[in-house]
Amino acid sequence: MRVYLHIPFCRSKCGYCDFCSGHPLELKDRYLAALRRERNLRLRPGPLDSVYWGGGTPSLLSPGELRPLMEGLCLAPGAEVTIEANPEDILPENLAGWSALGINRISVGVQSLRDDELAALGRRRSVREARTAMDALAGSWQNWSVDLIAGAAGQTCASLLATLDEVVGHGPPHLSLYALEVKPGSAVEALDGDAMADLLSEAWGFLEAEGYRHYEISNFCRPGRESRHNLGYWRRDPYCGLGASAHSFEDGVRSWNLDAPEAYVRALEAGEGAREGEERLDAAQARWEELLLQLRLDEGVERACVRPADWRPLLDAGLAAARGERVALTGRGMLVFNEVALYLEERVIQAK
Ligand code: SF4
Repeated sequence: MRVYLHIPFCRSKCGYCDFCSGHPLELKDRYLAALRRERNLRLRPGPLDSVYWGGGTPSLLSPGELRPLMEGLCLAPGAEVTIEANPEDILPENLAGWSALGINRISVGVQSLRDDELAALGRRRSVREARTAMDALAGSWQNWSVDLIAGAAGQTCASLLATLDEVVGHGPPHLSLYALEVKPGSAVEALDGDAMADLLSEAWGFLEAEGYRHYEISNFCRPGRESRHNLGYWRRDPYCGLGASAHSFEDGVRSWNLDAPEAYVRALEAGEGAREGEERLDAAQARWEELLLQLRLDEGVERACVRPADWRPLLDAGLAAARGERVALTGRGMLVFNEVALYLEERVIQAK
């Protein structure tokens, strides 16, 4: 089993960020008490294979504040325990404290190593902090990851490759490169589709040439360093999400918590659950969801889930490749994932 814990607090709200995040710390103590309550109410007995502290900015909490929550979790031997961190929180006292709590993986949000690109993303951080953080992690942690964002208006292939080159030089075992997505009306501007595809294509080629395995559309790793927690999402394994806005998938049911931290806290203080909604997919919907999630991975999907005649155009166009009994998207196919998904959806749903 896996558990996700959501911390919605940040020092400031970044312009592109659409998560339940950026909330001020005033609510912190009540929120942590509510999170402990929800954990006690919902978490089933049994060892956890992975724990993921996400947000928001979980690294805003001190190790002492994380401890009461961590102490209530039963970790399986070798469990992966990840914390998302901002560069300025990669401090010796935090590294020592996280390690003492059993946290063994750090995902640090760098986004770019260009100050003008960070400003374009509306991030109030400096490149200097990111470099210092990566130096510290390279010298002291085995399992860590860097988050980067591609495609802010003004970014060029050259500037993205310069960031990647410097990041790779620090030797992170794992790297996530997300294509910037913005909602209409956002203050942050993203490159258009063609420019984004060019950028990603160059970046993916660079990372693969550097020996990283492109194991999911936005994720790269050294051998054996996949994010085990996130692999579970793509493989449709169950998980329990705790905290405001957290989603869960248990017993075939997807559910989601109240989005607003204040409402989440009030519900738990009133002795109620924080679940806002749930849905159970029928067998056909579940099969389609499984196909869609697994198609994101380089391990691909079982060839038999789609009729041979429907695979053919994708194979002929070089968008997918057959590997034994499985079919996986190529890099070109991953670049047009949404179009491929639309094409398959029409055929898979029609075939029912
Ligand atoms: S990008 Fe990170 S730091 Fe910025 S608002 Fe979102 S969660 Fe907070």
